[in-house]
Amino acid sequence: MKQKEGNKKGWSNSVKKIAIGAAVVLISLGGVAAVEKAQSSTDKSSTEKSVDSQEEKMKSEAIQQEEKKDQSSIHKNEEQEEPNQSLQEKENQAENSVEPNQSIEEAAKQQNKSIPDMKAEEEVKEKEEEEVKEKAQEKAQETEEKKETKPRVDEEEKADKENKEEKKQENVSSSSENKQEQASAQQSGNQTTPSTPELPTAPSNEENQEEKVVYLTFDDGPSTHTQEILQILDAHNAKGTFFMLGPNMKRFPEATKAIVEGGHEPALHGVSHDAHQIYQSKDTVVGEMKEAQNDLYHLTGVRTNLIRTPYGSVPYMKPEYLEAVHQNGFELWDWNIDSLDWKYKDARYVNGVIHDVETKSFKEPVILLHDKQTTAQHLNDLLDYLSAHGYKMKPLDDTLPVVHF
Ligand SMILES: [Zn+2]
Repeated sequence: MKQKEGNKKGWSNSVKKIAIGAAVVLISLGGVAAVEKAQSSTDKSSTEKSVDSQEEKMKSEAIQQEEKKDQSSIHKNEEQEEPNQSLQEKENQAENSVEPNQSIEEAAKQQNKSIPDMKAEEEVKEKEEEEVKEKAQEKAQETEEKKETKPRVDEEEKADKENKEEKKQENVSSSSENKQEQASAQQSGNQTTPSTPELPTAPSNEENQEEKVVYLTFDDGPSTHTQEILQILDAHNAKGTFFMLGPNMKRFPEATKAIVEGGHEPALHGVSHDAHQIYQSKDTVVGEMKEAQNDLYHLTGVRTNLIRTPYGSVPYMKPEYLEAVHQNGFELWDWNIDSLDWKYKDARYVNGVIHDVETKSFKEPVILLHDKQTTAQHLNDLLDYLSAHGYKMKPLDDTLPVVHF
């Protein structure tokens, strides 16, 4: 960039090149010992200085390349983002390569450069490094913001991925093994009945004329655990609502039919259960729901308009998406009690739900559960409590006021 500024500059550049050449020779002569010394010593000798400036050049080049890579990948999958640690590293590198002003004079002497030249070069370098740092900070901030706006969803998506992994493993084992596993799981579930939580005692007599109702909703099914869930519901004279995925309905047609035949409410949860796919546009949201609606219809002859979008309507359902699903005749349900069964994966969700039902006193508690093994294992305990405390467990229907976040 400076080459065309006149003879003087040209001459100065040639000297620079010679100086750099000389520095390289010095490095070679100095060998590994000099490099190591240069890295560790705070009181630097002149030879080591040259080593430093070479290293700095390489470092800032590396940082710039790194930055280019970052920029190109910034619009890719969020999950591919580099961990914070590497941002920290980059910042440290940037900081380390900013040389204190006192050294400029010395370094100029070393490389036969004029002090103004060196200063100008330093300024350019500093400016570039400043930019690198700023970008790193911006990126860190961006990541932080994302964390704040959707911690629940991130956690849920992560749990989802883990579940998918578990399911893959489950599928590997034979069906007879599966049955055995389920049977023993059910047994152990029954044996480890959690103690009834300490709660504000609900009125045990039925003086309170108002009917107590809860709405149990099961997402992500049907699955190999649906039949077990249905048996437990039946044993408690309870009805549930199943927000099902199209591919799972096709994979478990018997379970899908059993839901409908048992008087439970079939409902829709889309097709992909992938936030990057379904939430691309209002058309992808509506499209997935219609596809699942058709799958259900072909299997059972029942057409439903009840939907729940993956991870709930917040934060992904934009106003125009909501408008589009309503225009297409769908009724979107969220929940007001999250069992956290997707997170705990053990009996803890039972006490959590009981606590929320008793303390939050919603007129219509709509409880988020999942059609999966650990939920099925401990469902009996939850329904025992609810039945014993006078709750009726009813299915959702399109006459109820919709629960939204
Ligand atoms: Zn789901």
